[in-house]
Amino acid sequence: MHYDTNYSLLIELQKVDSRIDGIDKKLKELPLEIQQCEREINELRTKLTELDELLKEKELSLREKNSEYRAEEEKLEVYKKQLLQIKNNDEYRAMLQQIDNQKEKIRKIEDEILKMEESLEEFKGKLPSLKEEIKEEIHKKELEKQKLSEMSEVLEKEKDTLITERGEIEGKIKVSSLRKYERLRKKGYNEVIVPIVKIMGSEGEEYVCSACNSTIPLEISLKVKRGEPFVRCENCGRYLYYEEKEEE
Ligand SMILES: [Zn+2]
Repeated sequence: MHYDTNYSLLIELQKVDSRIDGIDKKLKELPLEIQQCEREINELRTKLTELDELLKEKELSLREKNSEYRAEEEKLEVYKKQLLQIKNNDEYRAMLQQIDNQKEKIRKIEDEILKMEESLEEFKGKLPSLKEEIKEEIHKKELEKQKLSEMSEVLEKEKDTLITERGEIEGKIKVSSLRKYERLRKKGYNEVIVPIVKIMGSEGEEYVCSACNSTIPLEISLKVKRGEPFVRCENCGRYLYYEEKEEE
């Protein structure tokens, strides 16, 4: 079967347009995907900084605890000296009690220091591998981002080629045919010329519009199969064509 050249060319034009549409859609999505990558990279970098800050915090509180320990030790020494100068029994007992209390306080601080040292050592131990994991993730994300940027360049080039191709096809089509095509496309249809598809309906074989799935009346499907151009689907208004491979 042979279509009128204009019609076949329009179908070809539509194929190019669909590819351009697909590329445009992807080109719109890519910057968002790249931004998402950048956000994730920034979050990972923040995590790295936070790990270093946490280490500094732990070291600082340990230093503070140690100075607290020294201050309490000094206090204990002062109490001990004062004890030697006390003559009164009650005051002596009171000071002994105070010294005991102070020793207890110092023991508690020592326990705390031990715990803090352990926790610091443990943290220092796993810090390198934690940081390494995050750095690897950053590296992966950066590669992903690079791939997306490269893809964008490839798609732009592909689009340029398609636009040239489109121009060549367009130049061969009659303006009146082209207008019919453009008018439907402006309605927002991606596919303006669609194939009819054979199905087994309740009353045997029949053809449906591949875009809206509605049944094509026999006389219309015959026209389409004969290759008559610009026969429209009564339901959605698209132009129909017949793909011979369907009948294999
Ligand atoms: Zn239809």
